[in-house]
Amino acid sequence: MAVSIQCKYCRQSIGYIDDERHITSYFEQEEHSSSEWMELLEHKSNGEYIMKLTCEYCEDTLAQNPELHENDHFIH
Ligand SMILES: [Zn+2]
Repeated sequence: MAVSIQCKYCRQSIGYIDDERHITSYFEQEEHSSSEWMELLEHKSNGEYIMKLTCEYCEDTLAQNPELHENDHFIH
């Protein structure tokens, strides 16, 4: 199973994982539980999985502007 990681705010591509074991280790680093990451996966009709996360840039922006959390698709 291959998973593309995309920022849920700016839609920037963050990375690509082609091995399920790497997904698990990635989430261990990010301190998410495995049940949490299953919910983040979006199954595309072409068989691809997309995982929506927050990129570093948006994470910084959100940290500086907490009110932006209310806005799903702000642009940088
Ligand atoms: Zn972003």
